[in-house]
Amino acid sequence: SGLKKHFPIKQGFLKRTVGYVKAVDGVDLSVKRGETFAIVGESGCGKSTTGRTILRLEEPTEGQVVFQHSELGKVNIESADAKVLKRVRPEMQIIFQDPFSSLDARMTVGRIIAEPMIINNTLSGQALRDRIAELLTVVGLRPEHASRYPHAFSGGQRQRIGIARALALNPKLIICDEPVSALDVSVQAQVLNLLEDLQRRFDLTYVFISHDLSVVEHISDRVAVMYVGRVVEVGSTDQLFYSPKMPYTEALLSSLPQPDPRNRTRPTLLTGDVPSPANPPSGCYFHTRCPYAQDICKTEEPPLRDTGDGHMAACHFSDTLELKGASRLSEVP
Ligand code: SF4
Ligand code: MG
Repeated sequence: SGLKKHFPIKQGFLKRTVGYVKAVDGVDLSVKRGETFAIVGESGCGKSTTGRTILRLEEPTEGQVVFQHSELGKVNIESADAKVLKRVRPEMQIIFQDPFSSLDARMTVGRIIAEPMIINNTLSGQALRDRIAELLTVVGLRPEHASRYPHAFSGGQRQRIGIARALALNPKLIICDEPVSALDVSVQAQVLNLLEDLQRRFDLTYVFISHDLSVVEHISDRVAVMYVGRVVEVGSTDQLFYSPKMPYTEALLSSLPQPDPRNRTRPTLLTGDVPSPANPPSGCYFHTRCPYAQDICKTEEPPLRDTGDGHMAACHFSDTLELKGASRLSEVP
């Protein structure tokens, strides 16, 4: 709640702070146990920084991150000391976008997967080797792959190794940061299906960060849309994709492939550049690109408010605008 991450902009010999990049600028979200909660937006909107700040891989500038730990109960991550963090970290893991750079090329696959268990002193010797074999099998690889090096594997297989490493300490929450964006489309579905299987099997909660709406529609239960460091809409996947309440979401959806051939020529509504998070516009941050903007939008920031059934939107006109969502496949004649 109220989560902010501002990065100082330093200049000159004395490295004086001349401003701040407000990468995350007041984010309130709640993720329910067992769900897949997606965060979408264009690159630079703050979705990755939000994920990293939740895990305290970045120190938040302001705000709170409360995590329900299986033994400790509610833990304030932003203020937890090293001892508490060491206990909490195993339950909060991350899978990175790039399966090529996120695995150490000098380590065997077995060693990569063992690393979190060695650091946390959970297993050693034969028990550790058995666990590595088990994890490899769980992600669809083979126990004998443990002795090989990452370069011997394809992108999809490397992402499976990254997933095995994330599973090693029995996490409750996994932040998936663009986990399939670097993969071929044909491989993406396999990795997404694996993530869904693992979620059911191990009762996992996902925060799924992606710029790809097709992927998000496929995998998520609820979705938050971010724009210039803020959340502008939150709802169930159905609410957000088929009855959006915020013009930015409508614009994002307009770029989705159209299942109905009669609509193939639907123009994309997203034009112009994303404002800089170092120097955001006044009022509604989207007013510089919004086709519905009125005078009030330039001066007053619309609060994120409930438009009904927990569907939250930050737009002065969300009650009156008739926005167009994605086309349902079932609507195709
Ligand atoms: Fe567009 Fe105004 Fe709504 Fe912002 S508040 S999305 S500028 S109509
Ligand atoms: Mg990112």
